[in-house]
Order: sequence, then structure tokens, then C-alpha cells
Amino acid sequence: MTTAALIGGIGSGKSTISSMFAQLGAGIISLDTIGHYVLTMPEVKFDLARTFGAGIFDEKGEVVRPRLAQAAFDTPEHTEWLNGITHPAIMKECRRRIKELSQIHPVVLAEVTSGEISHKTLPWADVIVAVSAPEDMRIARAVERGEQTEADVKARIALQLTDEEREAVADYVIHNDGSLESTQAQVQEVWQALTR
Ligand code: ATP
Repeated sequence: MTTAALIGGIGSGKSTISSMFAQLGAGIISLDTIGHYVLTMPEVKFDLARTFGAGIFDEKGEVVRPRLAQAAFDTPEHTEWLNGITHPAIMKECRRRIKELSQIHPVVLAEVTSGEISHKTLPWADVIVAVSAPEDMRIARAVERGEQTEADVKARIALQLTDEEREAVADYVIHNDGSLESTQAQVQEVWQALTR
């Protein structure tokens, strides 16, 4: 069983490529989804309430993410507090889902959208697969989805690692800068290497 982390910037094609891997038989998890899920866990909510106060919750006791972001991203110290609470929970849930999916899939692929990325920060990943595409192409793709303006996408890109930084830590690089067929062929090659 192999666990791979799939990394790439906004609009690079991570979801598209995850689907291709899923069709070949990979189990898929998303660290973003797990990051949202842990905020619903009672023990995480308890620690968040103790650290950031009751103001980050709605009337039903659920975390309001923009309020949490406001409380946690105002200083580096507060961000560290947040990470200290959520990271262990994310790591535990990530390992739990990998274990579960590995019972039936030869490869588990985890989509990773944000955060610091290396083999050290992704200790459960046997390999790192980076998706690269030119910035103008990524902006056009992300804007075309209709949820974000060009300015939103550019602001997001400015906060993310560059393709070069991702490629430097990757074991495999998929260049998603041409047709879907060309991407599919690269996915097939990586799949063969991972299942060899
Ligand atoms: P985000 O991080 O913003 O969620 P993502 O990395 O998951 O993005 P996708 O959602 O897979 O990226 O791709 C962005 C858009 O570009 C989608 O609409 C997708 O259909 C399209 N796209 C991806 N790859 C290609 C390609 N090779 N050719 C044409 N369109 C593509």
C-alpha cells in the first residue's frame, strides 16, 4: 500500500487529477475536508472555546469559520495556538481514513491544498506528487469556475507556494498544461510507478 500526497496551487488541476487516480483505483481523501471536519469534533471545539472564547461559535454551538479565522490569524502566536489544537486532530483523522481506505485500495491519494509542504509536514505520505501549470492558465481556469474573481485568485496565489517550491519537494511532477489526454497519460505513468 502506498500513500501519496497530491499538492498543487489553486486551479492547477488537483481535483481533476484526483478523479483520474480514483478511476484507476486509488482511494481519495482531502486534507481540506478533514480540516473542516475536525472543527465539528467535541474535543476540538472544547479546546477552541477555551482558547478563543465563545464568540467563535454560532447559537447551535458550531464553529463559525470566518470568526475563528479572525481570532486565530491576527497574530502568529494565535495561529500557533490554533495549529496546536487542530493539527494533532487532523493528523489522527488523516491516518484513520488512510488506514480504512488502504484495506481496499492499493494507493491512497490525499489532496493537500494549503500549509507548509514537505515530507516532514506530511509524515504519512510515502510519496509527494506535485501538479504544475503556468500561473496564467491556473488563473483562467479558477476564474472560469465562476466562484472567484481574478483578483481573488491572484491574492490566493500570492499566499501559496510556487510551482518551483512544490516541485523541489515532489517525487513526481504532473504538468497539467496541455490536453486532458496528456495529463491522463502522466497520471497513468505515476500510477504504474506507485503500484509497481
Ligand atoms: P482548487 O485548488 O482551486 O480547488 P484544483 O487544483 O482542484 O483547484 P481543478 O478544480 O481540478 O483544480 O481544475 C480547475 C479547473 O480547470 C476545472 O474547471 C477543471 O475542469 C479545469 N481543468 C483542469 N485541468 C484541465 C486541463 N488539462 N484542460 C482543461 N481544463 C482543465
